Amino acid sequence: MPIDPTLPYDPNNIFAKILRGEIPCKKVYEDDFSLAFHDIAPQAKLHVLVIPKGAYVSWDDFSAKASETEIAGFIRAVGHVARDLGLVAPGYRLLANVGQDGGQEVPHLHVHLFGGEPLGRMIG
Ligand code: C5P
Repeated sequence: MPIDPTLPYDPNNIFAKILRGEIPCKKVYEDDFSLAFHDIAPQAKLHVLVIPKGAYVSWDDFSAKASETEIAGFIRAVGHVARDLGLVAPGYRLLANVGQDGGQEVPHLHVHLFGGEPLGRMIG
């Protein structure tokens, strides 16, 4: 069920629980700003989610309210994860769903990182 990204942050969403260690995840990377873990229902050979540690519902919320340090830290973390997973040479895809039309289901910003196989072109 897609979420309404204009609603206030829900501290009981599943990724908030993962960040608090209340629910396990298959972690691939963590730093001061970000956590990355394998998606529970992978849509590609490699499917990792990268989330900021701050309480941001969506890309909209994050880009409007996060500090420059958090934004830089998060973007660097996404690149770091891709490099760590050896995806730079073969390539990969990033995706952030936002709200109803974007099909976002978890109300904590997450960037999907897909790779490990040819993904085909999405556009054109
Ligand atoms: O972008 P969207 O909100 O639709 O994606 C949510 C993603 O979170 C899904 O790919 C889903 O498989 C993943 N998920 C997860 N672990 C959970 C709950 C959802 O990896 N416990």
